[in-house]
Amino acid sequence: MANSQEVLLDWLRDAHGMERMALETLEKQADRLKNYPQLQARVQQHVQETQWQMDQVKSCIEQLGGSTSSLKSGVGSLMGNIGAMFNAGTPDEAVKDVIGNFAIENFEIACYRSLISAAQQLGETRIQNICEQILQQEVQMASWLDQNLPVITQEFLQRVQVGEPAKR
Ligand code: MG
Ligand code: FE
Repeated sequence: MANSQEVLLDWLRDAHGMERMALETLEKQADRLKNYPQLQARVQQHVQETQWQMDQVKSCIEQLGGSTSSLKSGVGSLMGNIGAMFNAGTPDEAVKDVIGNFAIENFEIACYRSLISAAQQLGETRIQNICEQILQQEVQMASWLDQNLPVITQEFLQRVQVGEPAKR
């Protein structure tokens, strides 16, 4: 890492890899959450937001003279592991999806808070603004998951209690 701008570029590439993994995770979930329509709709909304975020981060990378052709996957695989740890087609996967997503969103929040601070320090106002917009979407998603986890947990337990353990 030769200079501070290269550090920022490197972190933006981490963020792009992170969003790519998040997108994969969310897309898989969106298909199978039919029994939880509100959760499914929120996940679908965040798929759209995540696609937008990837485009925005890419534009920041290009602004600094970088490219997304040889993206790193280190941070992204950490998130893939969070997903794989939990939701492997079990009946309670909706609950596990929300728990895993909450972890992912908070990881994203930390990354963008750090990026905002770095961009500010380097006077990269456009990059700072974009990361602030993305941060708002992550905070809103994390907050939705936080508020809805108890309800989704109880909904799942109700299904078990009426003898639908196999249904998701
Ligand atoms: Mg994101
Ligand atoms: Fe997110």
